[in-house]
Amino acid sequence: MYVDVHAHLIHPHFAGEENEVAQRAAAAGLEYVIVNGLEPTSNRAVLELCKAHDHLLPALGIYPVDAICNEIAAAGWEHDYPPPAPFDVDAEIDFIDSVADQLVAIGEIGLDQYWVKDFPEKQEYVFRRLIEVAQKHDKPVIIHSRKAERRVFEILQEMNVERADFHCYGGKLKLAKAITEAGYYLSIPPVVVRSDAFQRLVTEVPQSQLLTETDCPYMGPDRGERNEPANVPRGVEAMATVLGLTNEELRDVIRENFRRLFRC
Ligand SMILES: [Zn+2]
Repeated sequence: MYVDVHAHLIHPHFAGEENEVAQRAAAAGLEYVIVNGLEPTSNRAVLELCKAHDHLLPALGIYPVDAICNEIAAAGWEHDYPPPAPFDVDAEIDFIDSVADQLVAIGEIGLDQYWVKDFPEKQEYVFRRLIEVAQKHDKPVIIHSRKAERRVFEILQEMNVERADFHCYGGKLKLAKAITEAGYYLSIPPVVVRSDAFQRLVTEVPQSQLLTETDCPYMGPDRGERNEPANVPRGVEAMATVLGLTNEELRDVIRENFRRLFRC
Protein backbone atom coordinates (compact mmCIF):
# COMPACT_ATOMS: atom_id res chain seq x y z
CA MET A 1 0.00 0.00 0.00
CA TYR A 2 1.06 3.58 -0.72
CA VAL A 3 1.35 6.59 1.60
CA ASP A 4 1.15 10.37 1.19
CA VAL A 5 2.78 12.22 4.11
CA HIS A 6 1.94 15.77 3.02
CA ALA A 7 -1.40 16.70 1.42
CA HIS A 8 -3.43 19.92 1.60
CA LEU A 9 -6.93 18.54 1.07
CA ILE A 10 -8.26 21.60 2.88
CA HIS A 11 -7.58 24.03 0.07
CA PRO A 12 -9.76 26.18 -2.24
CA HIS A 13 -8.78 23.94 -5.20
CA PHE A 14 -10.51 20.98 -3.48
CA ALA A 15 -13.50 22.87 -2.01
CA GLY A 16 -16.55 20.60 -2.02
CA GLU A 17 -14.59 17.66 -3.46
CA GLU A 18 -12.64 16.62 -0.36
CA ASN A 19 -14.57 13.37 0.14
CA GLU A 20 -14.27 12.32 -3.51
CA VAL A 21 -10.54 13.05 -3.49
CA ALA A 22 -10.19 10.96 -0.33
CA GLN A 23 -12.10 8.10 -1.96
CA ARG A 24 -9.97 8.26 -5.11
CA ALA A 25 -6.86 8.02 -2.91
CA ALA A 26 -8.13 4.81 -1.30
CA ALA A 27 -9.10 3.40 -4.71
CA ALA A 28 -5.56 4.13 -5.98
CA GLY A 29 -4.08 2.00 -3.19
CA LEU A 30 -3.20 4.63 -0.61
CA GLU A 31 -3.27 3.20 2.89
CA TYR A 32 -2.70 6.58 4.59
CA VAL A 33 -2.81 10.25 3.60
CA ILE A 34 -1.49 12.77 6.15
CA VAL A 35 -3.53 15.96 5.78
CA ASN A 36 -1.58 19.03 6.87
CA GLY A 37 -3.05 22.23 8.36
CA LEU A 38 -1.44 25.67 8.04
CA GLU A 39 -3.33 28.15 10.24
CA PRO A 40 -6.49 28.24 12.42
CA THR A 41 -9.10 27.72 9.70
CA SER A 42 -7.40 24.83 7.90
CA ASN A 43 -6.25 23.26 11.18
CA ARG A 44 -9.84 22.87 12.37
CA ALA A 45 -11.10 21.71 8.98
CA VAL A 46 -8.31 19.10 8.77
CA LEU A 47 -9.41 17.64 12.12
CA GLU A 48 -13.04 17.43 10.94
CA LEU A 49 -12.21 15.88 7.55
CA CYS A 50 -9.95 13.24 9.08
CA LYS A 51 -12.69 12.19 11.52
CA ALA A 52 -14.77 11.17 8.51
CA HIS A 53 -12.11 8.95 6.84
CA ASP A 54 -10.05 6.23 8.52
CA HIS A 55 -7.23 6.57 5.96
CA LEU A 56 -6.81 10.34 6.47
CA LEU A 57 -4.51 11.23 9.37
CA PRO A 58 -4.33 14.82 10.72
CA ALA A 59 -1.18 16.91 11.19
CA LEU A 60 -1.64 20.49 12.40
CA GLY A 61 0.85 23.32 12.30
CA ILE A 62 1.51 26.94 11.49
CA TYR A 63 3.03 27.55 8.07
CA PRO A 64 6.08 29.85 8.36
CA VAL A 65 4.46 32.62 6.30
CA ASP A 66 1.32 32.46 8.49
CA ALA A 67 3.60 32.52 11.54
CA ILE A 68 4.46 36.14 10.70
CA CYS A 69 0.91 37.22 9.75
CA ASN A 70 0.80 40.00 12.34
CA GLU A 71 4.21 41.38 11.44
CA ILE A 72 3.20 41.41 7.75
CA ALA A 73 -0.09 43.14 8.61
CA ALA A 74 1.87 45.89 10.39
CA ALA A 75 4.66 46.27 7.84
CA GLY A 76 2.75 45.98 4.54
CA TRP A 77 2.86 43.45 1.71
CA GLU A 78 4.26 43.72 -1.81
CA HIS A 79 3.35 40.43 -3.48
CA ASP A 80 0.52 40.17 -6.04
CA TYR A 81 -1.38 37.63 -3.92
CA PRO A 82 -3.15 38.34 -0.62
CA PRO A 83 -1.16 38.46 2.64
CA PRO A 84 -1.88 35.86 5.32
CA ALA A 85 -4.94 36.70 7.42
CA PRO A 86 -3.86 37.83 10.91
CA PHE A 87 -4.63 35.54 13.87
CA ASP A 88 -3.41 35.02 17.43
CA VAL A 89 -0.33 32.87 16.83
CA ASP A 90 0.31 32.01 20.49
CA ALA A 91 -3.33 30.97 20.97
CA GLU A 92 -3.03 28.70 17.92
CA ILE A 93 0.10 27.06 19.33
CA ASP A 94 -1.91 26.40 22.52
CA PHE A 95 -4.75 24.93 20.42
CA ILE A 96 -2.37 22.57 18.60
CA ASP A 97 -0.95 21.54 21.99
CA SER A 98 -4.48 20.85 23.26
CA VAL A 99 -5.33 18.45 20.40
CA ALA A 100 -1.84 17.02 19.82
CA ASP A 101 -2.72 13.56 21.10
CA GLN A 102 -5.19 13.23 18.19
CA LEU A 103 -2.48 13.99 15.60
CA VAL A 104 -0.06 11.77 13.72
CA ALA A 105 2.48 14.63 13.49
CA ILE A 106 3.00 18.36 14.02
CA GLY A 107 3.17 20.10 10.66
CA GLU A 108 3.37 21.90 8.44
CA ILE A 109 5.95 23.91 10.40
CA GLY A 110 9.38 25.34 9.60
CA LEU A 111 11.11 28.32 8.07
CA ASP A 112 10.67 30.06 4.72
CA GLN A 113 13.12 32.45 3.10
CA TYR A 114 11.64 32.16 -0.40
CA TRP A 115 8.21 33.78 -0.16
CA VAL A 116 9.09 36.13 2.70
CA LYS A 117 12.60 37.08 3.76
CA ASP A 118 11.41 39.31 6.61
CA PHE A 119 10.97 38.51 10.30
CA PRO A 120 13.16 35.39 10.48
CA GLU A 121 13.31 35.72 14.30
CA LYS A 122 9.53 35.42 14.57
CA GLN A 123 9.50 32.44 12.20
CA GLU A 124 12.11 30.74 14.37
CA TYR A 125 10.18 31.51 17.56
CA VAL A 126 7.03 29.84 16.20
CA PHE A 127 9.01 26.92 14.74
CA ARG A 128 10.76 26.27 18.06
CA ARG A 129 7.55 26.50 20.08
CA LEU A 130 5.85 23.97 17.79
CA ILE A 131 8.86 21.65 18.01
CA GLU A 132 8.42 21.83 21.80
CA VAL A 133 4.76 20.82 21.38
CA ALA A 134 5.86 17.85 19.25
CA GLN A 135 8.43 16.79 21.81
CA LYS A 136 5.99 17.13 24.71
CA HIS A 137 3.58 14.75 22.95
CA ASP A 138 6.25 12.52 21.35
CA LYS A 139 5.17 13.35 17.77
CA PRO A 140 7.28 13.69 14.61
CA VAL A 141 7.42 16.99 12.72
CA ILE A 142 6.66 17.64 9.03
CA ILE A 143 8.81 20.46 7.81
CA HIS A 144 8.80 23.27 5.27
CA SER A 145 12.36 24.53 4.72
CA ARG A 146 12.31 26.48 1.46
CA LYS A 147 15.55 28.46 1.08
CA ALA A 148 16.17 27.94 4.82
CA GLU A 149 17.19 24.27 4.75
CA ARG A 150 20.46 24.65 6.62
CA ARG A 151 18.96 26.77 9.43
CA VAL A 152 16.07 24.30 9.82
CA PHE A 153 18.55 21.44 10.12
CA GLU A 154 20.62 23.36 12.71
CA ILE A 155 17.55 24.01 14.84
CA LEU A 156 16.44 20.36 14.70
CA GLN A 157 19.90 19.21 15.76
CA GLU A 158 20.21 21.84 18.47
CA MET A 159 16.81 20.87 19.93
CA ASN A 160 17.59 17.14 19.71
CA VAL A 161 14.62 16.39 17.45
CA GLU A 162 14.62 12.68 16.63
CA ARG A 163 11.76 12.30 14.16
CA ALA A 164 11.35 14.71 11.23
CA ASP A 165 10.35 14.72 7.57
CA PHE A 166 11.60 17.43 5.22
CA HIS A 167 8.79 17.90 2.71
CA CYS A 168 9.65 18.98 -0.88
CA TYR A 169 13.31 19.41 0.02
CA GLY A 170 14.97 21.85 -2.41
CA GLY A 171 18.36 22.42 -0.80
CA LYS A 172 21.84 21.20 -1.66
CA LEU A 173 22.63 17.49 -2.12
CA LYS A 174 25.42 17.60 0.43
CA LEU A 175 23.04 18.94 3.06
CA ALA A 176 20.45 16.30 2.10
CA LYS A 177 23.05 13.66 2.90
CA ALA A 178 23.70 15.20 6.31
CA ILE A 179 19.96 15.41 6.97
CA THR A 180 19.42 11.74 6.18
CA GLU A 181 22.54 10.69 8.09
CA ALA A 182 20.97 12.40 11.12
CA GLY A 183 18.02 10.02 10.70
CA TYR A 184 15.58 12.47 9.18
CA TYR A 185 13.41 11.69 6.15
CA LEU A 186 12.84 13.34 2.77
CA SER A 187 9.37 13.06 1.19
CA ILE A 188 9.27 13.18 -2.59
CA PRO A 189 6.30 14.63 -4.55
CA PRO A 190 4.94 13.23 -7.85
CA VAL A 191 6.62 16.04 -9.80
CA VAL A 192 9.61 13.67 -9.58
CA VAL A 193 8.33 12.15 -12.84
CA ARG A 194 9.57 15.29 -14.66
CA SER A 195 12.13 16.76 -12.21
CA ASP A 196 15.81 15.97 -12.64
CA ALA A 197 16.54 17.52 -9.23
CA PHE A 198 14.20 15.17 -7.37
CA GLN A 199 15.38 12.14 -9.41
CA ARG A 200 18.97 12.98 -8.49
CA LEU A 201 18.03 13.46 -4.82
CA VAL A 202 16.36 10.04 -4.71
CA THR A 203 19.53 8.32 -5.91
CA GLU A 204 21.87 10.21 -3.52
CA VAL A 205 20.26 9.49 -0.14
CA PRO A 206 19.62 6.14 1.65
CA GLN A 207 16.39 4.41 0.61
CA SER A 208 15.67 3.97 4.32
CA GLN A 209 15.03 7.74 4.56
CA LEU A 210 12.68 8.17 1.57
CA LEU A 211 8.96 8.88 1.81
CA THR A 212 6.26 9.93 -0.63
CA GLU A 213 4.02 12.97 -0.49
CA THR A 214 1.93 15.03 -2.87
CA ASP A 215 1.92 18.60 -1.48
CA CYS A 216 -1.34 18.66 -3.41
CA PRO A 217 -2.83 20.62 -5.03
CA TYR A 218 0.73 21.56 -6.07
CA MET A 219 3.79 19.58 -7.27
CA GLY A 220 1.87 17.21 -9.52
CA PRO A 221 3.14 14.93 -12.27
CA ASP A 222 1.39 16.85 -15.05
CA ARG A 223 2.36 20.48 -15.54
CA GLY A 224 -0.53 22.84 -14.78
CA GLU A 225 -2.83 20.07 -13.53
CA ARG A 226 -4.17 19.86 -10.01
CA ASN A 227 -2.30 17.24 -7.98
CA GLU A 228 -3.99 14.79 -5.59
CA PRO A 229 -3.04 11.77 -3.43
CA ALA A 230 -4.12 9.28 -6.11
CA ASN A 231 -0.98 10.40 -8.03
CA VAL A 232 1.43 8.90 -5.47
CA PRO A 233 1.84 5.62 -7.44
CA ARG A 234 3.11 7.60 -10.45
CA GLY A 235 5.79 9.20 -8.29
CA VAL A 236 6.79 5.83 -6.87
CA GLU A 237 7.07 4.43 -10.38
CA ALA A 238 9.47 7.23 -11.42
CA MET A 239 11.52 6.81 -8.23
CA ALA A 240 11.68 3.02 -8.65
CA THR A 241 12.92 3.45 -12.23
CA VAL A 242 15.88 5.63 -11.24
CA LEU A 243 16.67 3.33 -8.30
CA GLY A 244 16.49 0.13 -10.39
CA LEU A 245 13.76 -1.35 -8.18
CA THR A 246 10.31 -2.66 -8.97
CA ASN A 247 7.38 -0.44 -7.94
CA GLU A 248 6.37 -3.03 -5.36
CA GLU A 249 9.84 -3.19 -3.82
CA LEU A 250 10.08 0.58 -3.41
CA ARG A 251 6.47 0.90 -2.25
CA ASP A 252 7.20 -1.61 0.54
CA VAL A 253 10.43 0.17 1.56
CA ILE A 254 8.53 3.46 1.80
CA ARG A 255 5.71 1.85 3.76
CA GLU A 256 8.24 0.56 6.27
CA ASN A 257 9.90 3.98 6.50
CA PHE A 258 6.48 5.49 7.17
CA ARG A 259 5.90 3.01 10.00
CA ARG A 260 9.26 3.88 11.56
CA LEU A 261 8.63 7.65 11.46
CA PHE A 262 4.91 7.85 12.23
CA ARG A 263 4.49 4.59 14.21
CA CYS A 264 1.46 3.49 12.21
ZN1 LIG B 1 2.63 22.07 2.34
